[in-house]
Amino acid sequence: MENCDVLIVGGGPAGSSCAWALRRLGAEVMVLDRSEFPRDKLCAGWITPQIIDSLNLDLEDYRRTRVLQPLRGFNSGLVDGRSVAVRYAEPISYAIRRCEFDDYLLRRAGARLRLGAAFESAGFSAGTWVVNGSIRARILVGAGGHFCPVARLLGADLGKGERAITAQEIELEMTPAQCERCAVEPQQAELYFCADLEGYGWCVRKGNYLNVGLGRTSNHRLPEAVKSFWDGLQARGHIPGDLVPRFKGHAYLLYGDSRRPLIGEHSLLIGDAAGLAYDFSGEGIRPAVESGLLAAGVLRRALDGDMPAALADYEAQSAARFGQRPAAPRRALELGGWRTRAGRFLVSNAVFARHVILDRNFLHRQTVALRPWEGDPRYM
Ligand SMILES: Cc1cc2nc3c(=O)[nH]c(=O)nc-3n(C[C@H](O)[C@H](O)[C@H](O)COP(=O)(O)OP(=O)(O)OC[C@H]3O[C@@H](n4cnc5c(N)ncnc54)[C@H](O)[C@@H]3O)c2cc1C
Repeated sequence: MENCDVLIVGGGPAGSSCAWALRRLGAEVMVLDRSEFPRDKLCAGWITPQIIDSLNLDLEDYRRTRVLQPLRGFNSGLVDGRSVAVRYAEPISYAIRRCEFDDYLLRRAGARLRLGAAFESAGFSAGTWVVNGSIRARILVGAGGHFCPVARLLGADLGKGERAITAQEIELEMTPAQCERCAVEPQQAELYFCADLEGYGWCVRKGNYLNVGLGRTSNHRLPEAVKSFWDGLQARGHIPGDLVPRFKGHAYLLYGDSRRPLIGEHSLLIGDAAGLAYDFSGEGIRPAVESGLLAAGVLRRALDGDMPAALADYEAQSAARFGQRPAAPRRALELGGWRTRAGRFLVSNAVFARHVILDRNFLHRQTVALRPWEGDPRYM
């Protein structure tokens, strides 16, 4: 039997951020993940600068052997419609490859790793969890993404009763000749909203890689929407015609639609397991990182003393950071009639795209980074 203070199920950005902070706060942490790392994760791989700040990442170290594409702007428009280019003087985001990023964060965390080992069973008695019959922990953290088994254990109705967004995506390595024929600017991510504004497609170029995908608030006709988006990009000569896509799909919850519990007995959920992705953009990495950091702070206190009060504080801190969950699930975009027509016009309006779509809803520039390390010598 192996012992630890905290067992984190899932080594994605939520789990590794929590592990990183907890290790610096002196806890014995183990991360269990069913995949061997590096592993891939379906994602556009776009991260906001607040994440780098929150995790105190050394970009020079990171970019030495990994893809890190600074983004200095976005094109915003409609699928098959006109678009507008919004440009910024400084990098306002970065494009990374999840296989590299997640592996880097997990190794840097300094936790004991159990990789290639799925969560199979858990029992709780006398204040202790026993997981897979071989790991004993005082606290269990669910960071296993949308289908996290710990979320199920805490009562989440995975899948069936939930209104998830669904997305399909592909990340392709281009040959030098294809790179030359690719009209997607590396520093300019592209967002194309669906005609009903119930989702959007994206095109991001990072190094030799091209990432194309489309997500919608329901999976109704998703494969057709993705195919027509891809075909349109090729027909316009925007991406090389000889790239052959094999899209893969995944689902996850937007914050306003999620009814998942955040805490349980000696346990809590972070990241997609808790359903924390931003409503409008679907950005999930920042809330995953931030929830992991918030959780680490309360778990340190839980290990030191009053477990129920500390866990309850995680709920309070999450509400303060991500907002109160609405009483009834809401849609990110509840539009119709004139609102849809106005929205279709506005997505390619330069002022609206910069200030409302990008600054407020995609970049969350008004929300400063969490900095748990600031002034705390344990992080040095
Ligand atoms: C197509 C697509 C594009 C996206 N693009 C972006 C984007 O550009 N920017 C952004 O911010 N967000 C994006 N997101 C959302 C983002 O990918 C997620 O919100 C983010 O990965 C959540 O991180 P996490 O650590 O909670 O979960 P994950 O990254 O999903 O990590 C969960 C981990 O748990 C492990 N696990 C699962 N089940 C078990 C088990 N039974 N036992 C052990 N381990 C298990 C998995 O192997 C995995 O490593 C996108 C999502 C999709 C689907």
